[in-house]
Formats: sequence, C-alpha cells, structure tokens
Amino acid sequence: LAGKTFQPEPSVVNVNGVKIGGKELVIMAGPCAVESREQILEAAQAVKRSGAQFLRGGAFKPRTSPYAFQGLEEEGLKLLKEAKDATGLQIITEVTSDKAVEVSIPYVDMFQVGARNVQNFQLLKEIGKSMKPVLLKRGSATTIDEWLNAAEYIMSEGNYNVVLCERGIRTFETATRNTLDLSAVPVVKNMSHLPIIVDPSHAAGKSKYVIPLSRAAIAAGADGLIVEVHPNPMCALSDAAQQLKPTEFDSLCEDISKLAPIL
Ligand code: PEP
Ligand code: MN
Repeated sequence: LAGKTFQPEPSVVNVNGVKIGGKELVIMAGPCAVESREQILEAAQAVKRSGAQFLRGGAFKPRTSPYAFQGLEEEGLKLLKEAKDATGLQIITEVTSDKAVEVSIPYVDMFQVGARNVQNFQLLKEIGKSMKPVLLKRGSATTIDEWLNAAEYIMSEGNYNVVLCERGIRTFETATRNTLDLSAVPVVKNMSHLPIIVDPSHAAGKSKYVIPLSRAAIAAGADGLIVEVHPNPMCALSDAAQQLKPTEFDSLCEDISKLAPIL
C-alpha cells in the first residue's frame, strides 16, 4: 500500500485543511516536551508568528533514562489543546503506547510515532485503527525498507494518512547526535507515494546545525520540516542543546521561504 506500484502519484495527507505533500512546505515546530502552560503557549505563539502550521510538543516522552523527565501526560495534552485554541495551530504529539493513543485522540490532530517505536507493531496497528493522521519517524537503525514496512502496518489497518519523517540514523560519526540521511528523501520519493518531511533537530543534536540541515532537506525535496523550538532552550527539561530560540526559528523560516513556498 505504501509503494509506488499501488499508487504512482504522490499522496497528499490533509490534516484539517493543512495539506502535507502538496506544493507548499509544511512546518511543524515547538518544544521537545510540554513543560508548563507558559512554556507551551509562548512557544505556540512564537512558531505561529514565524509561519508554522503545526505545534509539536511531547506529553509522553520516551527517555533514554527512566529517571529523566517523562512528560506531563494527559495534563500536557490539555495544555496542547489550550495552545491550539489560542493560535489555531494543528497539534502533533508522540504516542508511546495503546493507552497513550486512546487518551490523546480527543486532544490532538496528528500522532507521532517516535524513532524508538517504529517497529512497535502493536502500536502501529492501534494507530492504523484510529484513522488519525500519523507522522512515522524512521528509527535510528531502521533501513528504508523496514521503515516502509512499518508504514504498511498502519495502512493495512485502513489508515492511509501516513507521513514519513527522516530524523537521522546512527553511524560511526559522533560530531552530530545522529547522521541525517538525506538520501532517504529521494529514495523514499522513488519507492513510495507517501509524503516525507525531515527533522533536523534530532539529527543534529546541536542547535547550530539545524538551519543548514533544514535548507539541505528542502533542497533535497522534503515536503516539510519538524523543528524543536523552545522559548528558553537552556532551561529545557529534554533536548536542551538542539532546540532553537524563537528568533533563530524565525530566521530558519525566512531562509527556507526563499527555497520553496511555505503554506
Ligand atoms: C522527539 O520528537 O522529541 C523525539 C523523541 O524524536 P525521535 O523519536 O526522533 O528521537
Ligand atoms: Mn526531542
């Protein structure tokens, strides 16, 4: 179902009127995690001003250490909904379990499957049944073929609203958190009709590399970006080193609008 043989022309995933995979770029932005009402509302207003169509923010955080901040869960979802009502932005958030899917449905417009859950087949099936649009991240050690099979799990339950996201893979290089595999963009476009966006933040791991990687992603043909933006990155409870300040995100949007039209 994800392959070009099933559908030769590119898919457009429509999230309440925002089209992903059309002629215009889609920008999703916001903090790694929802931390407080002030933080998420400030982030939402800033990214909206710069031109984003989606607000991101994790309520269920899959952290490497069990002692690290795990997210505000349903309280975080309520704050995301409040930010949507204040700005009109579409909401995307990561779901890490069947339970999280069920709790999140009324609050959000799009689910995110994180890199760590790309082959959590039970979760993929549950999302497939939900029919909610989904951003499926590539795992840090998944091949493109495995990743497209993960999309197949969601689509085989009837949910065709799948958008792929390249977010860097693990290589021998340690200068960046992951290695952004930009080849994935043209390769996926050749194999699949699904839209593909790029997450330069988790690839880079350092805010100073986010803007050049964003430009490269758009030049390679990505349908959009998902970028971490925090009102005060230094104080972030997760991924502090890679989140952009609102002013930096504003320059990013300005830069890429010269390369391709933003919705
Ligand atoms: C995130 O989006 O905050 C995240 C955890 O991303 P990834 O799954 O790509 O590591
Ligand atoms: Mn993050």
